[in-house]
Order: sequence, then C-alpha cells, then structure tokens
Amino acid sequence: MTQGRPTQGRPTETNPAPARGPLNRRLAAFGTTIFAEMSALAQRTGSINLGQGFPDTDGPEEIREAAVRALRAGHGNQYPPGPGVPELRDAVAAHQERFYGLTWSPETEVLVTTGATEAIAASLLALLEPDDEVIAFEPYYDSYAACIAMAGAKRVPLTLRAPDFRPDLDELRTLITPRTRLLLLNTPHNPTGTVLTPDELSGIAALAVEHDLLVVTDEVYEHLVFTGAHHPIAALPGMRERTVSISSSGKTFSYTGWKIGWVTGDAPLVAAVRAAKQYLTFVSGGPFQYAIAEALALPDAFFTGFREDMRRKRDLLAEGLRTAGFRVYEPEGTYFITTDISPFGDEDAYAFCRALPERCGVAAVPNSVFYDDPEAGRSQVRFTFCKREEVLRKAVERLCDM
Ligand SMILES: *Cc1c(COP(=O)(O)O)cnc(C)c1O
Repeated sequence: MTQGRPTQGRPTETNPAPARGPLNRRLAAFGTTIFAEMSALAQRTGSINLGQGFPDTDGPEEIREAAVRALRAGHGNQYPPGPGVPELRDAVAAHQERFYGLTWSPETEVLVTTGATEAIAASLLALLEPDDEVIAFEPYYDSYAACIAMAGAKRVPLTLRAPDFRPDLDELRTLITPRTRLLLLNTPHNPTGTVLTPDELSGIAALAVEHDLLVVTDEVYEHLVFTGAHHPIAALPGMRERTVSISSSGKTFSYTGWKIGWVTGDAPLVAAVRAAKQYLTFVSGGPFQYAIAEALALPDAFFTGFREDMRRKRDLLAEGLRTAGFRVYEPEGTYFITTDISPFGDEDAYAFCRALPERCGVAAVPNSVFYDDPEAGRSQVRFTFCKREEVLRKAVERLCDM
C-alpha cells in the first residue's frame, strides 16, 4: 500500500521515521501531505507557490460582507443545527435544481459539512466495512487514500494515463470483484483536469447498477469546466438511490478557509453520512453557512465570469509552461495543469519539485505521489493557475529563465 507514495511513505526531513515504529498502522503511509511539504518549501525559499490550490484573492466582496453581517447579527455564533442551517440547505437544494434539474429535500437529502474534506471522510467511514474494496481513479486527491485506510477498506486504483487521462471502462469492469463496495469518482478531476463525458458517466453508472455498487462523487470543481459541461452522475437512471454527491464552496467562491461543504443524496444515504459526520465535527462554520447560502444564489453571470477568468489564466499558464519547455496536458476543468518534465531530460517529478524552488523560485507538486503505480505518474508535475495574472506571468518568467 505504501509503494508509489514517496513523500507520504518514505521518511523525509519533514516526516522523520518514528523510533518505535508507526503509532498507527493504518496511517503509517500518510505522514505530511505533499501540499504542506511543498508549501513550506515555497515559504522557506520565498517562491511563488503554484503547488497548493488556493486563490490569492478573496471571492466576492458581498459574500464576505454577508459573513460579517451574520456574525454581527449573532446568526450561527452558537452550534448550528447538525445537518446545517436551513438557509444553506435550501440554497444547496435550489442550486442543484437550477444547474442540473436535480431535486433534493433540504430536510433529509442535504447535509452541510466541514468542507468537501469532511464530506469525503464521513461518506467513506459511513459506507465502508473493513476489507471492502473501493475503486478510485489514480492519480487521486490525497485524502481519498487516507480516508479509505481509516475506514479499514482497500483502495483499488483505476489508472488515468497520459496523454489523455480517460478512464478505461473495460479495465474498470475487470477491477470489480465480489468485495467491491464503492466507486469513488472525481469530476472535474484533480490533478489531471479530466471531465467525465456523458458516455463515460453512463458506462460507469451501468456498471454500478449491474454490480449494485455505491458511488461517492467529488464535484468540487463543478463550476470550473472549460471543455464540455459538468454532468452529475446522480442524475442518471438508477443512480439516485446509490450516489452520494459532494461539493464545496471553497473552490467555487474562492473562500477555501471557510470550509463550507455539503453532501446531497437519497435520504438513507445522507442519514448514514450524517451519523458519521456528527462524531467528526458535529457542526462548524455557523456564520459562514449563511454567507454561502447567499453565494449559491448569485446570478449566472457570477458563475460564468468566474469560469471565464479561470480560462484566461489557464491559457496564460499553459502557454507559459509550453514556452518554458514543459509538455503540457491541457485540462478540461479544475484549476490545475498537469505537465511532463521529460523534455528537460528529467524523469523524477518528486526530485524535480524539491529542487524547483531553489532553482527558479517557483513551487509545484509532483503527481507521482498521487499514484500507486510509481511508473504511471513518475515524470508528471502539477501547477495551479488560481493566482493573479501578474503572479502567473512572473512565475512563467522565472520558469523560462531556469
Ligand atoms: C480542494 C479539494 C477538496 C477539499 O475541499 P474543501 O472544501 O476545502 O475541504 C476535495 N476534493 C478535491 C478534488 C479538491 O481539489
């Protein structure tokens, strides 16, 4: 389980080998996240941090003001209701109906969580039994592997391979066993930028129905799709009763520090997730919940404007990375670009990323640590473009001079 996760698995400066062996066997492979490691390195060297995906400007002013108003008015300063404040549950349900035609009961089919991170943890802890198998795309978002391990389950990777990073549904079929309990999806996909097509989603849904599998789908980049459109798998025939959909305000509204996320799904599934969630954080972010309720009701122009702004930034960074000599895999969604460093005669993404800040004052993240198959992502490096244009230009200049 640990091979292919060099930073998490192997003792490093920031992740020393414990003298008496791992304190927790399930989590022995998960020391410091790669984001913490590379962000610390960026800070130490004064580098531009294109490693961790957080915007360097805050989201809409009126939404920040809404949070201030809620704080001042005493809305949410004490424990909010376990499932989330009614205003936000209504807003989440209205948003799902407005963009996707999905109807959920705000009372029983919406659950507010501490970001998508807690939604993922609570869903996996709630729905998995020890030794269940979970099929997830790799490269995967790092918390997936840790949460599957915390649940005592086993992850089975479906590898998305360069250059196009499409899931191979024939391969998916061969990975399904009698122990398979759940498919963990992520579309738009971090870090590759793959957006699942209607055909791919139908194929996956058909397998889920045929084998009676649960689906947990992480859709935090639902509003950052540049090619095609976002389609929630929950809307497909036979999927409503087996799908837990996860999203969050962090990426869409550029307030990643507020940690307001949510789960939608059929009432029994949401009840199961709530049972786990109430013993993780119980509740969080009271006043922010009111502000995000307002954010979700922003007019279409906000969502389109945000996407088009990010598209310009993607194009700027993609062009710059190409000029600097990287092989660029153009993302269909998210705010990340995956590149390949082979044109530099280099193959080891992790070593490349550890050296990059010293070399030219830019930090990035190696995709290799998000794969179990050490060869599949060996030479891939991820950059984020959710930064101001002048910052992206400066980073490109530095990379071109390297
Ligand atoms: C950022 C991110 C998350 C975490 O979202 P939070 O709301 O900040 O907890 C989950 N999944 C993916 C794919 C992400 O990129």
